Amino acid sequence: MPQQGILIVVSGPSGTGKGTVCRELLRSNSHLKYSISATTRSPRAGEVDGINYLFVAKDQFRKMIDNDDLLEWAEVYGNFYGTPRHYVLEQLHKGYDVVLEIDTQGAMKVKEKFPEGVYIYIIPPSLDELANRIYKRGTDSIDVIKKRLQCASGELSLAQNYHYIVMNDQVAAAVQKVEIIIAAEKLRAERNTALIDNLYSAGCVVNEVPTL
Ligand code: 5GP
Repeated sequence: MPQQGILIVVSGPSGTGKGTVCRELLRSNSHLKYSISATTRSPRAGEVDGINYLFVAKDQFRKMIDNDDLLEWAEVYGNFYGTPRHYVLEQLHKGYDVVLEIDTQGAMKVKEKFPEGVYIYIIPPSLDELANRIYKRGTDSIDVIKKRLQCASGELSLAQNYHYIVMNDQVAAAVQKVEIIIAAEKLRAERNTALIDNLYSAGCVVNEVPTL
């Protein structure tokens, strides 16, 4: 049976570019799978149902909650977002590492259930830069932008609940840091007890050890 994959949770204030970092990370690492969230928010220009999100109506989302189909869910900026449970558990079981890009409320719920996961918080180089990025993105109304900026500065204090903080000043550098984190996490002793067991079970042919 393959070794269980690692759950990698990525959060950070709106506008930090965590979506871009995750996209680039997934593009160049085939062992990673992306968990597509369900949301009640409307698609933005260019977003595709089933690729960016599963866009669902509120009553459908409520049904998913009632059926216990979501690993976690949260209300973010007036919309509901949730992680479909089945896909995540199935991929982890198959040995794939799974990336969840979710908000801090959802991340902390997942951390209670999966303390062995890897929790990464992406931060912007500065709050000014964060505001610039959200304005430039041009995908949200002014009211939503203001709400996102207010939440962002409060959210930064939650970074301490994560295992790693990665500053996204250059996307390629941030992606590389996340790759390094994942590579190191894969080598942790507690994830590799089977390697030692295998060495023991393969035994040792003492007679064949050359004498000096
Ligand atoms: P956006 O509307 O900009 O795509 O996402 C808004 C926020 O919702 C982001 O912080 C994003 O990480 C978060 N989010 C996306 N999917 C999920 C999810 O499945 N669960 C939770 N808790 N948050 C999510």
